Amino acid sequence: MKLITAVFCTIVLSASLFAQVKPPTESVMGRFLRYVKIDTQSAEDQTTIPSTKKQLDLANLLAKELKDLGVQDVRISEFGIVYGMVPGNLTDNSKVPTIGFIAHMDTSPAVSGANVKVNIVKNYQGGDIILPADKTQIISVDKNPDLKNLIGDDIITADGTTLLGSDDKSGCAEIMTMIDILRNNSQIEHGNIAIAFTPDEEVGGGIDKFEIEKWGAKFAYTVDGEQLGDISNETWSARTATVTFHGKNTHPGTAKGILINSMYAAGAFLEAFKQAVPNRPETTEGREGFLHPYSAAMSEETSAIKILLRNFDINGLVAQEDAVKKVIADIQKRYPDVKIDYESKLGYLNMKEVLKDYPQLTDYAIEAAKRAGVIPEIRPIRGGTDGSNLTARGLPTPNLFTGGHNFHGKLEFNSRKGLEKSTDTLVNLVQIWAEKSK
Ligand SMILES: [Zn+2]
Repeated sequence: MKLITAVFCTIVLSASLFAQVKPPTESVMGRFLRYVKIDTQSAEDQTTIPSTKKQLDLANLLAKELKDLGVQDVRISEFGIVYGMVPGNLTDNSKVPTIGFIAHMDTSPAVSGANVKVNIVKNYQGGDIILPADKTQIISVDKNPDLKNLIGDDIITADGTTLLGSDDKSGCAEIMTMIDILRNNSQIEHGNIAIAFTPDEEVGGGIDKFEIEKWGAKFAYTVDGEQLGDISNETWSARTATVTFHGKNTHPGTAKGILINSMYAAGAFLEAFKQAVPNRPETTEGREGFLHPYSAAMSEETSAIKILLRNFDINGLVAQEDAVKKVIADIQKRYPDVKIDYESKLGYLNMKEVLKDYPQLTDYAIEAAKRAGVIPEIRPIRGGTDGSNLTARGLPTPNLFTGGHNFHGKLEFNSRKGLEKSTDTLVNLVQIWAEKSK
């Protein structure tokens, strides 16, 4: 009998607590649907940051909305980064570290993000989703096993002609709605929260201009991950190598005995590379690293091939460099007249190298997801995030899920539950930081 009373009390208590949480002034779905209509596609190989001016349209809107939500110190830097600070509501905010949240405003250069027309499959009942404006674009159950977890949810897609922009307008909408919920519910205790929205994440570069110290966060999270529950505290370590072949050009009419065509050595290198390096993007998955020649510029005088080196293990990266150098040595023997140079530069380091010293960042995120009814899963990212750069520069920054799927393509989607549960997780997370730091 006592037990039954206790259970009854718990149910009443949690139900009344739940009832006390007032909804945001605008739903996360409402915000998301507004943001995806703004074209913020970034562009490769630009000399300016942001790479495209149109990203500032969203930056200006987000800055205004932050101010309307009472966020302090809102500013847009000369590089289009939006910063702000949500003051804590504790008697002594200095006891809780300032936690930062970051989402990026741009969308991938790979697929157009202009004139996004949203398609909402209400109360999804299973089966493939055929996109309305291009019937060849199909989100199939086969290739999207997470669909089976979304029965009864409202699924949000584009119409098949553009990407959706869930990457990363979901993150923008979720962070903004978290702020809205906190403002409407002063009973939810939290420390200071630093907010940032960044341009040019998809093309790299924007994050180099991030003012870490001025922003004031001790730890941060990028809200830029995929399906519900995915938390990433590990990314590639990455280098980019350039192999340059120096030949000798002259007028082809009088070239006998003089011309040394660098392109033959470059072509031979690629062929030998393919034989010597089995780990390539098209042959690897999970925790396997790869080497990937991704661009080449060729002419008689000079040819250059650019190669991505990617590995979760820093020693693995060293071994990959050795593999490239070995192929170069073989080609150099076959083409003694062509001088071959190798150079490489570090892109970013696996954030695990730093985050292993701050396990609470991941632990609290796991707890926050669980409280939102989401099953957390730690998943290494076969790529880099803005957090890889920030972590390497001294601001530990793992990555949290947004509910999104199929980034950078026309089959991109998210769902109402995906957006809402991700937002709930953020609200829980700031609460947990306050609880644990007291
Ligand atoms: Zn992203």
